[in-house]
Amino acid sequence: MNFNLTAEQKMIRDMVRDFAEKNIKPVAAQYDEEKRFPFENLKKMAKLGLMGMNIPGEYGGSEVGVVAYSLAMTEIGRACASHAVTTSVTNMVAEVIHEFGTEEMKRRHIPKLCNGEYPAGSFAITEPHTGSDAANIETTAVLDGAHYVLNGRKTMITSGEHAGVTIAWAVTDKRAKKGKGISAFVIERGTPGFTVGRAEEKMGHRASSLNELIFDNCRIPKECLLGREGEGFTIAMMELDGGRIGIGSLAVGIGFAAIDFAAQYVKEREAFGQPLSKFEAIQWMVADSYTELEAAQLLVLRAAFLKENGLQFTKEASMAKLFATETARRVAIRAVQMLGGYGYTTDYPVERYLRDVIGTTLYEGTSEVQRIVVAREILRH
Ligand SMILES: Cc1cc2nc3c(=O)[nH]c(=O)nc-3n(C[C@H](O)[C@H](O)[C@H](O)COP(=O)(O)OP(=O)(O)OC[C@H]3O[C@@H](n4cnc5c(N)ncnc54)[C@H](O)[C@@H]3O)c2cc1C
Repeated sequence: MNFNLTAEQKMIRDMVRDFAEKNIKPVAAQYDEEKRFPFENLKKMAKLGLMGMNIPGEYGGSEVGVVAYSLAMTEIGRACASHAVTTSVTNMVAEVIHEFGTEEMKRRHIPKLCNGEYPAGSFAITEPHTGSDAANIETTAVLDGAHYVLNGRKTMITSGEHAGVTIAWAVTDKRAKKGKGISAFVIERGTPGFTVGRAEEKMGHRASSLNELIFDNCRIPKECLLGREGEGFTIAMMELDGGRIGIGSLAVGIGFAAIDFAAQYVKEREAFGQPLSKFEAIQWMVADSYTELEAAQLLVLRAAFLKENGLQFTKEASMAKLFATETARRVAIRAVQMLGGYGYTTDYPVERYLRDVIGTTLYEGTSEVQRIVVAREILRH
């Protein structure tokens, strides 16, 4: 077993860390406060090859592998969760089009996702009445000659208002067994009948957008079908397996950012005549946090390694996402505690880390859904 990163993986991690330190971290608090979408930084990140990290060069990707992608997501997450989630979803959209799309679709959309011409990509499964139970969606797509006509509403779609392309799921066969009659579609921004609804006001990830998307007799050429009719739910689940590596990775980054900050703070702040870092209760929080985060990162990297090598990784991706996001949340709570009352103020970044990290336990499958996946994978063997 080799725990060493390759020279290229280290180089990518260091390059992303350097970029994030200089360009993302300095604006993270302000963008959070202003709820400002980071167009400029996303464009720069595209130029660095961070939007198509598992996409071959012929489509504009950097094809550096899933482990390097995970390391990059951790470094971006360390600086700003909003930049990280936008990057993660855009990578996921490029990958799914690459995996299931026609040649025409790939040539039309993937280069624009990779080079930043599209500020982002989005994927739209969740609907107002169904999230975890994704097979229960109600948006419909009816074939009418050479077109599908979509009707329905999606909610809480990351980058919905900025995405150049959206992958949306809809029911094409109402009579099919649950999950079997769903198909996926690749839909361009500006398609008539496809509009953006309200933006959610949210606790964290405030520099990323979260939108309602509305399909009102939206006619799209039937060539926009991704994969085959009825294959949509399988595509979604496969896509989410990979997405969970990205979210686990960025959560690890948030956790490290929180404890790095708190560990420095306790060396400087004094109580009872000595630095807080001299108290055993504080030292244990430092020790536990770094130990748990390193364990989380190993799980995430293992899932990334399996995916990179073409091995089964569904269970491992869910374990990694579950453990990494819950660990990072626990660490962020400790970081607030270590700063005392100041941890609860916006003068310091730890309250933002906590607000951001909570989101990671919810999207791309809640912690409960990850446990369902893990148990199902274990018990069926
Ligand atoms: C920041 C953010 C970004 C998002 N981005 C996207 C996006 O880009 N695209 C997209 O399609 N969606 C997105 N979502 C939506 C997200 O995927 C859903 O919120 C999530 O899947 C949960 O669905 P729900 O909110 O409907 O909760 P529900 O499904 O109503 O669940 C509510 C609670 O019940 C629990 N629960 C549900 N079923 C079970 C069960 N069988 N056993 C035990 N517990 C259960 C859940 O774990 C949760 O705790 C995003 C959400 C957030 C917060």
